[in-house]
Amino acid sequence: MRTKDLELYIHIPFCVRKCHYCDFLSFPMDNSDMASYCRQLIKEIESWDIISQGYRITSIFIGGGTPSVLEGLWIERILEAVFSTFSCIDNLECSIEVNPGTVDENKLKVYKRAGINRISFGLQSTNSEELNILGRIHTYEDFLESFNLARKIGFENINIDLMSAIPTQTLQSYETTLERICALNPEHISAYSLIIEEGTDFYGNKAVLSQLPSEDEDVEMYTLTNDILGKFDYHRYELSNYTKKGYECRHNIGYWRRIPYLGVGLGASSLFEEKRFSNDVDFSQYLDNSQWQNKFKKAYTLTRKEQMEEFVFLGLRMIEGITKEGFVQKFGNQIEEIYEQPLKESIEEGLMEETKEGYRLTSKGYFLSNHVFVKFI
Ligand code: SF4
Repeated sequence: MRTKDLELYIHIPFCVRKCHYCDFLSFPMDNSDMASYCRQLIKEIESWDIISQGYRITSIFIGGGTPSVLEGLWIERILEAVFSTFSCIDNLECSIEVNPGTVDENKLKVYKRAGINRISFGLQSTNSEELNILGRIHTYEDFLESFNLARKIGFENINIDLMSAIPTQTLQSYETTLERICALNPEHISAYSLIIEEGTDFYGNKAVLSQLPSEDEDVEMYTLTNDILGKFDYHRYELSNYTKKGYECRHNIGYWRRIPYLGVGLGASSLFEEKRFSNDVDFSQYLDNSQWQNKFKKAYTLTRKEQMEEFVFLGLRMIEGITKEGFVQKFGNQIEEIYEQPLKESIEEGLMEETKEGYRLTSKGYFLSNHVFVKFI
């Protein structure tokens, strides 16, 4: 039987406490509720047995929340359920998000034994005042300890999440963060700019908002990221993601290239057989549910037009852009037949350029990517 690629996202919605800028589906929870959740999550994973036949898993991402707040044993059991339910490729990428201060040597050893081969640390900044303002639970020293432990145990593929445009952050302090992190030589760095989201502690907090870097500084920080990381042999392969050669995050590339994925766990969303659907976001409803596949069966199938739009605006997040051949293969039309006007306009405005294989954003386009994306919708 010919197999098709499939990615798996596993959501662990628990955190020690809520960071002030966070609008992710995450919250503190006691041990017994976390255990009930994990039992239910395992049932959900196993319920995909039939439907996923003909697919093979190419990457797993355990995200959150803070998956590392769970006892290591749960991560092991969850992955056992995955491996006994799905067929997986040999060189599977298996990542877990970890917050500094929530792992010890024993937990990291369990992760390794369970099949995890990529760790993503949520650090954000090396500056203690900035970490404090963000409401992070850890210090830079906590991070160093966790990072060094992960290296000692043999993790050779580590990502570090960083953030720019943090209240009180200066170009100088951001530069220090970038240089300290590069000196540690992680394989991958994600560097996002803080966005103030509705419903977070930061939203509407005038004292905090008055300390945000200006828009010009925000732009300078974005440029600085590429400049400094470039000096340390990281290359940008997506708008906010940088890597050493060969360590691109395959799971995330799958999202941008529209590889089908199943999301399991509270609120997790999926793209499967051109349907997009999500789980309940209500914790008790998730625990009561046993009909996950109904979501798939009743889900809305994306129209061809929507699939094309996604192909373009997700693909353009990648620095290499989108290929003409990929578009033809998927939709049977030349991309120019469908998007003549937005392509022409974006090129004239200097936001996109044509390459030998297709189209991509220009450096100017990186700053105005949303302005480009809406032209295709
Ligand atoms: S650790 Fe991450 S998911 Fe948890 S509250 Fe902070 S930002 Fe949100």
